[in-house]
Amino acid sequence: MPRPKRSRFIRTIPAVTYFKPRGIPMSQLKEVCLGVDELEALRLCDLEGLYHDKAAEMIGVSRQTLGRILEQARKKVIEALVYGKALRIEGPHDAQIFTQYTCRSCLYQWQEPFVPKKTPCCPKCRSEEQTNGFVSK
Ligand SMILES: [Zn+2]
Repeated sequence: MPRPKRSRFIRTIPAVTYFKPRGIPMSQLKEVCLGVDELEALRLCDLEGLYHDKAAEMIGVSRQTLGRILEQARKKVIEALVYGKALRIEGPHDAQIFTQYTCRSCLYQWQEPFVPKKTPCCPKCRSEEQTNGFVSK
């Protein structure tokens, strides 16, 4: 029996989901797939500099799981850089991803299942001016 999918939470919808090295034809290109939850772990810990327990809480996983996600994510990014592989960012297959939004108009916060490149509107005031957690409070 397959294990039930776990829920993970991200606050970033990546603007670009494919990175390709210059000068290598697509037919010869190898790909590395980075999950949106792995990207979120890298963003929170390595870019924003959050402590692991805080980042784990935001994504909705244990500290140990976050450590594993980070280790795997760093390995994938380095693999793409060192071996000249393309990097594809996509939803992971072993987890259900929810995006955390904050409405810019009324500051209402809500979660929705992650759908790439979707523009949701606020369930409270119907505004489409939302942010994925980058709003400064
Ligand atoms: Zn609103």
